[in-house]
Amino acid sequence: MGEFDLIERFFKRPVTRAALGVGDDCALLQPAPGMQLAICSDMLVEGRHFLSTVDPIKLGHKALAVNLSDLAACGARPLAFTLALAMPRADPAWLAPFSRGLLALADAHECELIGGDTTQGPLNICITAFGEVPPGQAFLRSGARAGDDIYVSGTLGDARLALEVFRGKASISAALFEDCRARMEQPTARIALGLALRGIASAAIDVSDGLLGDLGHILKASGVGAEIDTATTTTLLAASRHANWPQANLGGLELLELVLAGGDDYELVFTAPVAARDAVLAASGEASTPVTRIGTVQPEAGLRLLDARGRALTHRFASFDHFA
Ligand code: ADP
Ligand code: MG
Repeated sequence: MGEFDLIERFFKRPVTRAALGVGDDCALLQPAPGMQLAICSDMLVEGRHFLSTVDPIKLGHKALAVNLSDLAACGARPLAFTLALAMPRADPAWLAPFSRGLLALADAHECELIGGDTTQGPLNICITAFGEVPPGQAFLRSGARAGDDIYVSGTLGDARLALEVFRGKASISAALFEDCRARMEQPTARIALGLALRGIASAAIDVSDGLLGDLGHILKASGVGAEIDTATTTTLLAASRHANWPQANLGGLELLELVLAGGDDYELVFTAPVAARDAVLAASGEASTPVTRIGTVQPEAGLRLLDARGRALTHRFASFDHFA
């Protein structure tokens, strides 16, 4: 199968929202009048971001989900995306499920594939996603203010737990592993929550490298610090609510480490003024996405972890850094 047959067969679909899709030198995108375009790119590299054994349907899903997650963290509504794909060979048995997983998530968010590039090479998937947001309403990392509450959506740490099982470090029951693995391989982008939080959240970021590291980016950009209530955060590991949890063997890993430093969760961590607590709960309900208040923004720089009695923990948690 040649390059153009491949594009035609697996990636070319009629567009309804974009003015022009796959097949020309450029695609044409028409954002609604007055809206700003929100643009993000995320690349998935075999061996770095996923294991070679991963199901291509799930990989297609994840490649788009991690990009939609960045749009969510800006409060943007997805419009379209491009796909730059390098792969060792044009294998229909891989391409068919990959494009199915990718386009199913795209359809669920009405986000159209409008173009890309295809080349032979080590498996590497780079997506650029485009969304729209009203001017002035995108959540910026620099928007947190001292006194704001800090929230996180959904659950945290389960993707990292699955990774540790793959690495042979932790061992958990098969049922629990399936749940954690789904969190790692098929993350949910919190688009609905991002939209519902427009005009409410003061800053937001998605958790890709670990809660503390990602929250750290907000704190740094905003010139503030934070206190985190770790007694609350330990309840965020979905696996810990599982009936089989007591049999889990974390192989020396701490629960807090999973929740605070585990990556690949694609939840939103965001800040909002105390006066907006009811509005945050309403947004959570509107988006059918649970949120948990985990701490407070402080004027002094630095991230302080407090135990159930309000005492400072001294343990340091490292978040993920590709070049560290
Ligand atoms: P060009 O030579 O102008 O770079 P290509 O031959 O690379 O164009 O691609 C032909 C058309 O197919 C373009 O519209 C391009 O956007 C689209 N395309 C290429 N690869 C992909 C892909 N993986 N997914 C979606 N569209 C693609
Ligand atoms: Mg090209």
